[in-house]
Amino acid sequence: MQHDYDPENIFAKILRGEIPNNTVLETEHALAFRDIRPQAPVHILVIPKGPYATLDHFCTAASDAEIAGFWRAVGQVCEGAGVEQGFRLIANAREHGLQEVPHFHVHVLAGRSLGPILSAG
Ligand code: 5GP
Repeated sequence: MQHDYDPENIFAKILRGEIPNNTVLETEHALAFRDIRPQAPVHILVIPKGPYATLDHFCTAASDAEIAGFWRAVGQVCEGAGVEQGFRLIANAREHGLQEVPHFHVHVLAGRSLGPILSAG
């Protein structure tokens, strides 16, 4: 399928330094920062630095180095403070996934029991 990327999305602006963020980790291929509207005591977003809109776009178009670098950064975040008792990863995509920001990201949620995987809706 065709994957379009909007370079004016808010995470692209964060990557360009046009909008501040609360950085947790920065590597060659990834940036991790705290979500502005946290849904759990730990709520960190991890994004690749390249222009990918969704997980499927990223995993089909990115280089092996970008993919490895991104997932290693996710692993580092998931080993960080506050996630000792477990965590949940979420990657929303497109309309049915209710993706708000069209730059691929994973949410790392932790710090309390997170309940069922989905609520009705
Ligand atoms: P999505 O629904 O796309 O998976 O999640 C996007 C997330 O980005 C939301 O949890 C939202 O709170 C977060 N977010 C939106 N704008 C900003 C921002 O400017 N800074 C930060 N740190 N998070 C943001």
